[in-house]
Amino acid sequence: AKLSSTELIHLENEYAAHNYHPLPVVFDRALGAKVWDPEGREYIDMLSAYSAVNQGHCHPRIVASLVAQAQKLTLSSRAFHNSVFGVFAEKVGQVFGYDMVLPMNTGAEAVESALKLARKWGYLRKNIPTGEAIILSVADNFHGRTLGVISMSTDPTARTGFEPFLPNVGPRFRDEKAEGGERLLRFGEIADLERALELHGPRVAAFLVEPIQGEAGIVVPPAGYLRAVHALCKKHNVLLICDEIQTGLARTGRLLACQHENVRPDIVLLGKALSGGVYPVSAVLADKDVMLCIQPGEHGSTYGGNPLACAVSITALQVLLEEDLSARAARLGEVFRTAVKALNSPLVQTVRGLGLLNAVVIDEERCNAARRARGLDVEGAKRRTAWQFCLLLKERGVLAKTTHGNVVRFAPPLVIEEADLLKAVKIIGECLVDL
Ligand code: PLP
Repeated sequence: AKLSSTELIHLENEYAAHNYHPLPVVFDRALGAKVWDPEGREYIDMLSAYSAVNQGHCHPRIVASLVAQAQKLTLSSRAFHNSVFGVFAEKVGQVFGYDMVLPMNTGAEAVESALKLARKWGYLRKNIPTGEAIILSVADNFHGRTLGVISMSTDPTARTGFEPFLPNVGPRFRDEKAEGGERLLRFGEIADLERALELHGPRVAAFLVEPIQGEAGIVVPPAGYLRAVHALCKKHNVLLICDEIQTGLARTGRLLACQHENVRPDIVLLGKALSGGVYPVSAVLADKDVMLCIQPGEHGSTYGGNPLACAVSITALQVLLEEDLSARAARLGEVFRTAVKALNSPLVQTVRGLGLLNAVVIDEERCNAARRARGLDVEGAKRRTAWQFCLLLKERGVLAKTTHGNVVRFAPPLVIEEADLLKAVKIIGECLVDL
């Protein structure tokens, strides 16, 4: 017999690590931008598995590639060649304009691989003294959950209890003139990177940045920021690494978010939608002078570049291009932001984003003040929050989640029908009234 949502959630709670705090909804089936739970209730997905299903859930062409390849060859390991990897490597390089790809599986692995690649490049090409390479990043970044990656984080929840961290990576840099002798490199503040490179340029191998900060709350930097970053990196012979794992693959209205500023990073990181949500596939893209710094035996992954991943990814890229999902994201993004602004809700503090990567910032204070004025209890558990707004949305068939605090992310599959997007906005409006 089919288990109910309640039973399934109970099983997870009992038998799986409590490392997430999911909204209480169970996905049983999905297609495009629609999801159904075991009871058959229908939802509009406005998260896309953190932008992994840009092409829509269970895209028929991508699933067909998965099935066909699964019946033929699933894994060779890189101990041998396989008949799909080379084809994928050429394709992904052509689509994004890079000489070579280093294939991995998850986003965090792509980031870790880029850190290693940048260090190696720093020693071999920039002649940084061995053991002294620095990789700079910015405050409030999110690049995944592995140890090297959280060493760069400024989020206490991501770090506390997982010490000690990797040295010489992250947004903190020594500055004798600063209070405490250390400074934090802020996102969107070009002067911070300028100072860091002025002080430490010769030892800096790379600067790692998300073109739009995703988990930090869909933070769009000032226009010209990425271009200025690129110029500074060039000036100091520092590799620019753009983490496009969430922003890339048509999500923001361009194939890569950095293309909005005509910036071509030295290294691009892809993941998530590189497989359309069908299989874990990630990639590090770079030109030969960088990529060939890593020699045989120095890095690897059993599943990296496996035939199933490659077949799925080739089709996932074809779908992005042939269905022109960048243009669709750009157009529907405008539709979404315009429609949310037109709700004129006093509880909407800000609507921001690019393409279909958007945030609606909920004014929790104003919401609770209004309830208090109506004589309602707003203390403790009675306080209204963006989280409760998401619960209300779920009750009415729209799935979205907070990123940080009062920021709710709306990032539906790019194939969403305009009518469904507008229906979601209508429900957002009703939930704002009832919050
Ligand atoms: N980088 C960015 C910008 C991300 O948004 C994420 C995931 O949310 C990651 C890296 C990590 O990807 P994964 O969860 O596949 O390791």
